[in-house]
Amino acid sequence: MSALTDGDAYRGQALGEIHEAALALPNDGKVADYIPALATVDKARCGIAFATLDGEVHAAGDADIAFSIQSISKVFGLVLAMQRMGDGLWERVGMEPSGLPFNSIVQLEWEHGIPRNPFINAGAILVADTLVSHFSSSRLAFRSFVRRLAGSERCDVNDVVLASETRHGSRNAALAHLMKSFGNIEAEVEDVLAHYFFQCSLEMSCRELASSLLFLANRGVHPISDEHVITPRDAHRVNAILSTSGMYDQSGQFAFSVGLPAKSGVGGGIVAVVPGQGVISAWSPALNQHGNSTRALSMITGLAGRLGLSIF
Ligand code: GLU
Repeated sequence: MSALTDGDAYRGQALGEIHEAALALPNDGKVADYIPALATVDKARCGIAFATLDGEVHAAGDADIAFSIQSISKVFGLVLAMQRMGDGLWERVGMEPSGLPFNSIVQLEWEHGIPRNPFINAGAILVADTLVSHFSSSRLAFRSFVRRLAGSERCDVNDVVLASETRHGSRNAALAHLMKSFGNIEAEVEDVLAHYFFQCSLEMSCRELASSLLFLANRGVHPISDEHVITPRDAHRVNAILSTSGMYDQSGQFAFSVGLPAKSGVGGGIVAVVPGQGVISAWSPALNQHGNSTRALSMITGLAGRLGLSIF
């Protein structure tokens, strides 16, 4: 048996045991219901995948069931905008943690319509504006980009979730209008929101998510397709902001206890980048008080501890 095969077997076994342990935990979090369509998801679902740079994907539980990626879509949006906009993007959005809830409005007023970072809603809506302005159909461009990265034509929007987001999107609309009033949104607010809700409503499995983001663990090059998705400098930048701002108001605690660049979404998914090794994606719909999935968090924490994955 080669060392690599030993490592693969060890990872696979660790994943299985960690998934079992998560299932034994009380599943007492709350499924997101401020977007009503998300509240209908089966709370018992639980899956994890670890895609490694050599093309292996270890998986346990519901790793092949597509779920609503929600805020994890902000990572794809940012990368696509970095490709198109270059450094000009950073004149319109910051790179500091916000210290406030992901959909907060107050900071945006104080800071003249410049969102703190691309992973709070205001920042992702700003990024959506740049995509709407740069593509003739930003939604199709976004979906093709994600499908190409995932190596799967299956990734698509859930129309029921999309309609529900759109109907209950007043707060996001308020953020967009406020930024427009400061001159930091170029396209029509309606078009920007349509793009933002579209990307949030995309569904992907743990396996697809982990595979799609492998370029972030490999200095910007997707190891399966060899596509140069972003420069090593930009991969570094995305990972840096993920480390400080990817896990809502629990980003500091996550860095403290896990130590990996990561992004979560209110659909219950979490992705975590392990530079030089691969990407972990875990999903379970019930959320803790910070909006992070309780079981996904416990699985990623367990795996990172057991395999010694912290970057710090
Ligand atoms: N579509 C959700 C919203 O804009 C995304 C929230 C999230 O996953 O953080 O409120």
